[in-house]
Amino acid sequence: MVTQVKEPEKKVDSCLPRIVPREQNAEELLRLAAGELGIPVAIRPYWGSRREPNHLQHTVCGDDNVLDAWDWEGYMTRPWCPRCRRFLPEEEIKVAPMPHKWLCPRVKYPQVQGDTVIFWEGECGMKGHNHCQSIELIDVGDTAFLVRLKAGGAGRNFLIGKDDGHPFATMVVRRVTTVQDAFDWLVPKLIREAYILGKEVKRQGDWFFIPVEEDPLKRQNGGTIPVLGSDPRLYTNTLYHDVHLIYNGVQTRHIGSMVVHKGLINTTYGAPRVKGEVRAPDHPTLTLDSWHIGVRRRSGSGSSDESSQQGVD
Ligand SMILES: [Zn+2]
Ligand SMILES: [Zn+2]
Ligand SMILES: [Zn+2]
Repeated sequence: MVTQVKEPEKKVDSCLPRIVPREQNAEELLRLAAGELGIPVAIRPYWGSRREPNHLQHTVCGDDNVLDAWDWEGYMTRPWCPRCRRFLPEEEIKVAPMPHKWLCPRVKYPQVQGDTVIFWEGECGMKGHNHCQSIELIDVGDTAFLVRLKAGGAGRNFLIGKDDGHPFATMVVRRVTTVQDAFDWLVPKLIREAYILGKEVKRQGDWFFIPVEEDPLKRQNGGTIPVLGSDPRLYTNTLYHDVHLIYNGVQTRHIGSMVVHKGLINTTYGAPRVKGEVRAPDHPTLTLDSWHIGVRRRSGSGSSDESSQQGVD
C-alpha cells in the first residue's frame, strides 16, 4: 500500500513555451526507435495515466485513510489509523475501492509494455494544475538514446535501449547528458574498478569483459555445481565450447567459444570466464585473445511513476 502524500502543486512551469515542440520531438523519438535503433515506442497522453489507488479503511472507526506507517518496534511498516492513532490488526482493515478519479501523474516514468517503450506526454488535466510533462531528446547513441522527462518543475533522465533483444527504460542521474555517460554510470562497480586499474575492458552490448591473469581451470574453488539459469544444464569449473553466457542466473543470447562458469570474486553471483569468440544476434563478433571475466550490466525497468519508484540521484 503506497501512501499518498498531498503536496501543494507549484504553478511554476506552464505548458508554453516548451523547450522542444511536441510534434517535432514525438516524431523524432518515433523515427529513431523505428528506424535506427529498432526500439518500438509509443507516446500516450499524460493526463489520465494515473488513477486514485484503493484505500484501506479502518472498520472500527470508518476512517479510510489507513496508512502504512513505520513501526520501530518491529522494524517494518504496518497499517496505522490516523484517527485512532494506533497500529491495526489485519481483521480491522477493509479495502475501500475508490471512485474512478484521475490524479496528477507527476513525473510519469517510461515503461516497457510487451516489446514497446511507452512514454507519457502532455498536459496535466487536473483542476488547478497548469503543468505538463514534456519529453526532451538529449542524446542518441548506437544502441540507446537518452531522454529527459520534465513535469511540474521536476526533471528526470532515462536511458532507453535494448538489452538482450528486449527494450529497457532505466533512470539515470541528471548530470548524465550523453548515452556514453549513461552507460558509464550504469556500469557496475567491478567494471569501474577495472577501468581504474587500467585494464582493457571489452564490451559486447550489455556484456563487459575484464582480462584476468589466471587460467579458470587451474583452481577449482567451489567444486562442480550446476549453473543457475543454464539450459541445457551447465556446471561450474567445467570448460564448454559454444555455450550461452549466464550472469546472475540469467542466460543471455551471447555465446562464447570457450566458457568456464565460476564464482565471481567478492560477490555471491557467478560470472563466466570467456576466451575466443563471443557471438550475439545483434552485435559484431568479439574476439578475446586471453581469458576474461564476463560481467553483465543488467538494465532495470521499474514501475512507471514517481509515487512508486525512488529517485536514483
Ligand atoms: Zn480508526
Ligand atoms: Zn498535475
Ligand atoms: Zn545482450
